[in-house]
Order: sequence, then structure tokens, then C-alpha cells
Amino acid sequence: MASVTATFLALTRPGNTAPTASTEGGRNSQGKDSTTDAAGEPAWDGRTKVIGDGSTSYTGPPTGQLKAEPLKPGEKPPQFVVFSWDGGLEGDDHLFSHYRELAKQYDAHMTFFLTGIYLLPKSEKDLYHPPQHSVGSAAISFPTDEHIRTTLGQLAEAWKDGNEIGTHFNGHFCGAKGGGDWSVQEWKSEIDQFFSFVEKWKTNTGYKDIAPLPFDFRKEVTGGRAPCLEGQKNLLTAGKSYGWRYDASSAGDFQIWPTKKNGIWDFPLQMLPYEGGKYQGLSMDFNFLYNQSGGETQGDPAKFPEWEQETVRSYMDGFNRVYYGSRAPLFIGNHFEDWNGGIYMKAIDQVVKNVCTKQGVKCVSFRELTAWLDAQKPETLERLRSLDPAQSPDWSTVVK
Ligand SMILES: [Zn+2]
Repeated sequence: MASVTATFLALTRPGNTAPTASTEGGRNSQGKDSTTDAAGEPAWDGRTKVIGDGSTSYTGPPTGQLKAEPLKPGEKPPQFVVFSWDGGLEGDDHLFSHYRELAKQYDAHMTFFLTGIYLLPKSEKDLYHPPQHSVGSAAISFPTDEHIRTTLGQLAEAWKDGNEIGTHFNGHFCGAKGGGDWSVQEWKSEIDQFFSFVEKWKTNTGYKDIAPLPFDFRKEVTGGRAPCLEGQKNLLTAGKSYGWRYDASSAGDFQIWPTKKNGIWDFPLQMLPYEGGKYQGLSMDFNFLYNQSGGETQGDPAKFPEWEQETVRSYMDGFNRVYYGSRAPLFIGNHFEDWNGGIYMKAIDQVVKNVCTKQGVKCVSFRELTAWLDAQKPETLERLRSLDPAQSPDWSTVVK
């Protein structure tokens, strides 16, 4: 059944389908009057469809999504900000639930890149056959049984809130024999295994008391972020065969309006001004850590307050550069970690509060941004891409 769905998806994602008003309000409209929904798929008949062993279900398209409309002549584009999370485990730190609640509070949607083995119990680890590594191995820890339960709870709620679930793949292998060394076939194997873990958690855990997740991973997952941002070239080719629409696995230059690579939207982490613009660094927690504590995950606690403010300042400098300039979307990627006393989490809390409340700002998921970009005229996007980040143009010459 699952593979049929995948084939179907690949055939019915025409890439440039302009989403219609039915994306707004989602479930309420139920699509009963039309024969297809925003993504060009057959309209949902309003009934929950349980999939496979009962681990997942289809309950209609995600609700409350951004309305993807083309800009009107002379209109200033919204300032999009995407907060994205690699891993997505709800552990004892409760960071998944914290960010889900924060998103709700500030009317934001976020992208949670789920690691597939976070729904695979350690006792079943030999079900994982990672490319170029031994059976049952992973570069990260398998979850505890309790954390599988808590993560399932957060995934369901996050999706119902209108957030997006993407993939961070499975074993988190970097460096030699990691994603950067994988062939297209090996990436496909990694992706197929991701789907098998997240679609069969009920069989693998034996948790019969938990309701099916309210979404179908084959429809929900339309992109991911590769561990350590390695291997995008072959991953893009692999992702295309699943009908994926974007990839967030690259390290970009400055804050430029996105472009497509190999027919898929490329959403890189971006270079932001570090230390007041002395140099530029990547918009990811690990890169602040690397520069501040030399890669030590717990550096000198006396420095934490200063480093936290430095991190907030970089994000805000990067944000302001485009908010008052080209309006290129800002991409921020973090992990659920307590590095340096949790300062990178606290920094994000502040940034969410500072930016998602500003006029013209839309804190959205990568999926929403993808739909919005696909709704724009190619010439408009071409002109937007030609802007320098800090360049504030006469919008009537850019958006015609
Ligand atoms: Zn990662």
C-alpha cells in the first residue's frame, strides 16, 4: 500500500501547480466541491483513512496553511522566516513541546525534521541497514521506549497545529562513509528505511494503545535536511523520485532569494553577520558553538550570557539586513540540544518573539514557503534573486 502511495505522489506532483484558496482553512473546506486539492491530488472525502498497521492515517490536508498567492504589482514581499529543527525527539528536556508551544503562541509554523530511528526501539535496531555501515549501527543514540511515546505525541500535535514534518533521515552518519559518500541508490535505501520506521512504529514497539498519527508520511514529507549538510547532490536525485519539492541540506552564501537545483527548491542555511559583522557564519546552532567554545559542547559557563546575546545579535543582524532590504527569506536551523547551558535554545526563543511579531513577517514552514514560491511568476523570482541582501529596491520595478 505504501509504495503505491509513493508512486502516486511522484506522478501527481507537477511541480508548478499554483495552490488555490483551498489551502487556507484546509479541513474546513473539505474540498467536496472540487475534484483536486491544492497539490493537484484527488479531493479528500472527509473520512479518516488508517494506513498499514495503524501507525499512521490520512485525515485530510494540513490546516491553517499560508495562502500561496502571487505578489501584486509593486507589492513588497512578506519577510519569511523559517525555523527548522533537526532530529525532533521529545526527550527529558521537552524541547519539542517547548517549540511547538512557542510556535503556537506566536502564530508561527515550524519545520521539524524527524530522525527515522527516533520511532524505532533499540531492541529492533537490526531492522536498520545503514548504507556503508554495519546492521543496527547509528552515529546517534536510539531512543528510549518512553521517548518514542513522547515523540509520537508531539508529532501528532505539531502536525495538527499546522507545522511541517520533514526528515533528518536515520543514522546521522557524517564524514567518511556518511551521506557525502552515498550513491543515489544508497540515499534511496536510507529514505525507504525512514518511511518503514515511521510507518511501522506500531508493529515495532507493540504500542497498541496509541492512536495512529494523523498524517500520511508519504504525503507529508516533501523534503529534508541531510546530517551535517553532506551529500546533497545525490540526495536531490533520490528525493526527486519521491516527488520531493525542496531540500534544506546545503550551506549557502549570503541571504539570497532561493533557487531550484535539479528541479527542487534549495533552502540553504545562510551566512549571517557574526560578532557585529566581523565575519559571516552559518545560521545554525553548531556554528555558533564552534566559534564560541571551540566546538566544546559545554564551554566556560561564565561566558554563556555573553555568547547568548552574541547569538541573538547575529540572528537579528541577519534578519534586519533582509527585512529592511531584499526581503529574502531567513532560514534558521537548530538541534534540540543543551549546548553551552542551552543558550542556543534561549537565543531562538528571543528571536521568535522579536521577529514573528513584526509587521510583514511570516514565520512559516519550508512547505508553506515552497507553495508560495511556486505561486510566483518566474520573472519576479528572477528579479528578486538579483537583489543584494541589504538592497531595498523600488518594489514596482521588481514585482510587476
Ligand atoms: Zn543533525
